[in-house]
Amino acid sequence: MDVTVIGAGLAGCEAAYRIAQSGYSVRLLECKPKEFSPAHKSVDFAELVCSNSLKSDERSTAGGLLKSELRMLGCFLLSQAEKCKVPAGGALAVEREQFSKRVTERIKAHPNITVVAETADEWNDGELTVVATGPLSVGGINDALKKRVGDSLGFYDASAPIVDASTIDYSKCFSADRYGKGNGDYLNCPLTKEEYTEFIAELKAAERAKLHDFEKREIFEGCMPIEIMASRGEDAIRFGPLRPVGFVHPETGKRPYAVVQLRAENVEKTIFNIVGFQTNLKFGEQKRVFGMIPALKNAEFVRYGVMHRNTYINSPRELDCYSRLKNYPNTFIAGQLSGVEGYVESIASGLIAGINVVRTLQNKSPLLLPPTTIIGSLYRYITTPNVNFQPMNANFGILPPLDEHIRDKAMRKEAYCVRSERDLLEFKQSILY
Ligand SMILES: Cc1cc2nc3c(=O)[nH]c(=O)nc-3n(C[C@H](O)[C@H](O)[C@H](O)COP(=O)(O)OP(=O)(O)OC[C@H]3O[C@@H](n4cnc5c(N)ncnc54)[C@H](O)[C@@H]3O)c2cc1C
Repeated sequence: MDVTVIGAGLAGCEAAYRIAQSGYSVRLLECKPKEFSPAHKSVDFAELVCSNSLKSDERSTAGGLLKSELRMLGCFLLSQAEKCKVPAGGALAVEREQFSKRVTERIKAHPNITVVAETADEWNDGELTVVATGPLSVGGINDALKKRVGDSLGFYDASAPIVDASTIDYSKCFSADRYGKGNGDYLNCPLTKEEYTEFIAELKAAERAKLHDFEKREIFEGCMPIEIMASRGEDAIRFGPLRPVGFVHPETGKRPYAVVQLRAENVEKTIFNIVGFQTNLKFGEQKRVFGMIPALKNAEFVRYGVMHRNTYINSPRELDCYSRLKNYPNTFIAGQLSGVEGYVESIASGLIAGINVVRTLQNKSPLLLPPTTIIGSLYRYITTPNVNFQPMNANFGILPPLDEHIRDKAMRKEAYCVRSERDLLEFKQSILY
């Protein structure tokens, strides 16, 4: 066999199919139906474990642009999803059983793919391998990963929300570091006593997302959500992530009552996370309650906070920019395990792994898509040094800024799409010729 792919989920199926279509033989290991993760139920491959939506397909969204790029690259799973579409407004939602069945049939029927129903516990570093066992990887594969990446393997996400920098109200925050130590890296959003009291009340009462039984204990042992911390006493978060000590409000010359800090997520400072706001609130509630922070009143959330079970590698530390283990270059990591977040992002990561495995077999250097594409920027994001790394989804905030600032939001998004599609087309042509 030319390549082993471990895991017949979204990333693994996409990678296996791309490699097989390019004329190489693939051994695809899948633990189902012998063994199931706590969320997987179907015997079929490419199982959508929760929602049946692959998110927006509208051009004006990052999800829509991601799909447009995948179409340009000939994505297999997306083509199958389109054949099982159900009405869902601007989103691409699918009839999930039909989708998985279609993918499974095509994978199993492919003359270059041999499916092995087996839980993989190891792989051979000397052979080309794509590890795509997903956020709920089962069996000894976790130990095999740990052996190679040590404590860079995480088992749950506790991500604070991230907002688009261009939607922050800069007249309601100031740039400074606690006690003036630092380079003004943080944006600080002061709250008055009244604002704080109202915020706390809504935070405590806000609706929380349901966790699966298999998630509860592990997640809360690892990190306390801001809403739980808030429920421990009126001042609990004012002595925690919202502590105002070491700050002077530039307008009043006094210490604010409380301070919410924002920290840049990338060097371009196009996106900021809300420091210490790991949360399990429902997405709509995050927008409503965190929007009570005056500087964030009109903020656009490019990623909401999540707390869930998720096996993933600290990719900035362990992966090269092609998503190969730095110390084991025959091993490609794909899907959620590689630090991307979401169904379609996982599919994209499988596709890129597939393309680059094929190029390796052809003795060509691997590809990195242009940074102006969502896929290229996602790869850059997950492999750029980041001490606070958390998995990332597709969003416009990770793209490099446009050459000229466009104030109108719809026109700005359109400009991102036009730039990405133009650059990807040019890139494809440069590869072909
Ligand atoms: C509970 C839950 C709900 C989610 N809901 C959503 C959602 O609604 N929308 C969204 O966009 N994203 C969601 N995600 C995140 C993510 O997009 C999906 O998990 C996605 O399926 C990840 O794709 P993947 O290919 O990385 O892993 P998977 O699709 O999970 O594929 C991994 C495959 O590997 C197999 N496997 C595992 N271990 C082994 C082993 N040792 N040997 C052989 N095979 C193995 C598994 O059985 C599975 O088939 C959710 C994640 C979880 C955990």
